[in-house]
Amino acid sequence: MDAHGAYLGRPMPIHITKWDGSYHRRWPVYYVQRKGTLYLAQSRAGELVTRTAEAADDPNPWPIPSSGPVYLWEDRWYNVARGLRNGRIRYYVNIATPVTFDGASFHCVDLDLDVSWFTDEAPCVLDEDEFLDHAERMRYPADVIKHARATVDEVLTMIAARAFPFDRA
Ligand SMILES: [Mg+2]
Repeated sequence: MDAHGAYLGRPMPIHITKWDGSYHRRWPVYYVQRKGTLYLAQSRAGELVTRTAEAADDPNPWPIPSSGPVYLWEDRWYNVARGLRNGRIRYYVNIATPVTFDGASFHCVDLDLDVSWFTDEAPCVLDEDEFLDHAERMRYPADVIKHARATVDEVLTMIAARAFPFDRA
């Protein structure tokens, strides 16, 4: 058991904000373990994602479609959820700042860009328009823009190589 073994199975929401500090999403997950800089969590089908930090405050939450592992790193600019969509395996990669963990929840800043990969087809990069729009409106620093773009390339390379965590296609 790792040093964080006491957290095993505990609900640990991921609080996701935007670069300007506005609240974006509360993503409920359960803590599994820490391994080096990786936090492994688990999402459960039917649990509700909300636009508010307090789940009860969102009148229109939506359910997570399938259970699956969630990979969060404190030194990588993305996080990954693996699940099933209509019987197909899908990895969903959110480009975001490295995650922080305070013992009760995770936090990261969403940087719009996503990579969606159904493992029986080529991955696609989503939300380019939103990224360009927010980069301008929220004044992303040049190095953040560079980092986000480089991370998309890094993720696509890892997918092509079926590198962890993209090795369970
Ligand atoms: Mg996005």
